Amino acid sequence: MTNHCCEAMTSRVNVRCDQHDAPFACPDALVGFSPKFQEYGLIIHDGGNSSITIDFCPWCGRRLPESQRDRWFDELERRGIDPWDDEVPAEFQDERWLASLRQE
Ligand SMILES: [Zn+2]
Ligand SMILES: [Zn+2]
Repeated sequence: MTNHCCEAMTSRVNVRCDQHDAPFACPDALVGFSPKFQEYGLIIHDGGNSSITIDFCPWCGRRLPESQRDRWFDELERRGIDPWDDEVPAEFQDERWLASLRQE
């Protein structure tokens, strides 16, 4: 479980709905969090999977963690994994890959 900046963010990111499995399909879902990239985004309900990345929390105003998207791709490359063609290891599906880097 990731600790978010404030309770409002935590409850928004973890909103679970009985009617929609995917947050992108649910009108109640406002903010998405990508654990593997450590990115927060405002969900755009246009029927697709788009979101706008945000740098600050809309509720408490704190700066959100820096995006790890570039590092994610760098680390996979370092391991010789092509994220488009190869199977991405389980720890790279969420924030666990970051924890393993910290131990190095
Ligand atoms: Zn819903
Ligand atoms: Zn916040």
